[in-house]
Amino acid sequence: MKRSTVDILASYIDALHPIIYINHFDFNVIDDAIARVGENVKCVEFNNALGLLDFKTKSPMYECDLEQFLKLTMDDGFEQETFLVLKDVHNELNNPKIIALLKRIAENNLYKDNYNAAIFILSEVTVIPCELENYITVFDIPLPTASEILNIINNFIIDMDIVVEQETIDDIALSLKGLNEFQIKQILNLAYQDGGCIDQEDKLLILKEKEQFIKKSGMLELVHFTEDIDDIGGLENLKEWLKRKAKVFANLDKAIKFGVDVPKGIMIIGMPGCGKSLTAKATASLFEIPLVRLDVGRLLGKYVGESEENMRRALKLSEAISPCVLWIDEIEKAFAGVGSDGGGNDVTTRLFGQFLTWMQEKENTVFIVATANDISRMPPEFLRKGRFDELFFVDLPNGEERRKILDIHLKKRRKWHKNINSIILIKETEGFNGADLEAVVKDTIELAFIEGRDTITTDDLLKSVKDTKSISSTLKEKIAEIKSTIDKIDIKPASKQEVR
Ligand code: ATP
Repeated sequence: MKRSTVDILASYIDALHPIIYINHFDFNVIDDAIARVGENVKCVEFNNALGLLDFKTKSPMYECDLEQFLKLTMDDGFEQETFLVLKDVHNELNNPKIIALLKRIAENNLYKDNYNAAIFILSEVTVIPCELENYITVFDIPLPTASEILNIINNFIIDMDIVVEQETIDDIALSLKGLNEFQIKQILNLAYQDGGCIDQEDKLLILKEKEQFIKKSGMLELVHFTEDIDDIGGLENLKEWLKRKAKVFANLDKAIKFGVDVPKGIMIIGMPGCGKSLTAKATASLFEIPLVRLDVGRLLGKYVGESEENMRRALKLSEAISPCVLWIDEIEKAFAGVGSDGGGNDVTTRLFGQFLTWMQEKENTVFIVATANDISRMPPEFLRKGRFDELFFVDLPNGEERRKILDIHLKKRRKWHKNINSIILIKETEGFNGADLEAVVKDTIELAFIEGRDTITTDDLLKSVKDTKSISSTLKEKIAEIKSTIDKIDIKPASKQEVR
């Protein structure tokens, strides 16, 4: 059973964790928990602008800076059990005097029997100086569980005296997963004010609210797109697989109750410009959930532990906005050289381990789409079954796929007509990838416009084909390398075998 915030905080205090770092934006919630843990404890608070405050009434008692505050209160622990609650002091945590004072209080707490003071640091930003690493415990306020969310909704429904169908309640509860109590109540209020009730349409409202969190965090990027599954030419095996998983996502609540495992994600490996990114977008469109991109490079920070903290926050955030597709593009670059002798470093190795554990243990509705070109330097743990539901290899398009891709791009630009001779075009575009074929269509149409022609012909297209340097000629060696790595692993082809 999940323990409450108060229980966990109390157990930290009992186990003599001297500094508890709470990463949260809603200080009221934390104040409430601290007050409940420290019912008979002396609590003093530090506020950057006002100095020493009475923790209960929040009235200013003495104007001072953090250094003065700590000097003033550090011996309180000899007199009676004390909680020192420091708010938004992360900017001070690179000051050697502050570090020394915090260390002294922490050591007193650990080694002096007659001393009893715990420090709570409350901030939205986690900064952990290496000198204090061994004394600080980072505490994440647990998010409400599914049944707690249902309770919040049911209480809200009773308070507002409205009637909502059970199926709607279950669906809304699932979309609210990953949000904290405060956010859930805020959204329910918004939804109620909007239409005087709670209904399926409110899922959109929840999505919009979640978008706000992503923008504010700066760690994930919400990708807007217009593509859908029909914009992908070929890759039939991959598309069929995704359509099956989409059925699960469309009825997630029922599927889970039925005993279906929540899909974890896929890894798509293969040739450049053959539709991997397109598939990430089409997946989100098919599942009707948002697409967020994780750029591992963006998480790297300059302080000890900062990158890991960023990764933790990014993954938490993805859970908060789930159900969503979490797209990790060029994953081989993000985790290049991990665990090998060269290339990688300690930080990437740790980030990689953190990510693997999260993937292994994840029971949330974040669907991962990892895309990669060259996996020769990818750590083999990544490719093991169980992490991803499936690994797919995207090869250069075969003849039938090239025809479909050309048709898609011609139709998109309203220039497709039945007199275009696809047999000749297929023959002349051997070794072209999807991006090359799109370029052929674009160039042909542009030229027709410049020359004042309404339609385009097979000859026009063939001329552009001749002028286009295909990927197979420009990246010959890279393609051979990708193929030889793929031959060595157990991976499904994304395309159906061509019938000749
Ligand atoms: P990279 O490895 O270089 O990132 P990628 O495999 O992710 O490449 P995409 O970005 O998906 O390639 O493809 C580039 C463009 O080429 C797409 O925007 C799309 O217009 C076109 N394209 C590629 N493959 C296909 C396809 N199978 N069907 C239709 N269009 C395609």
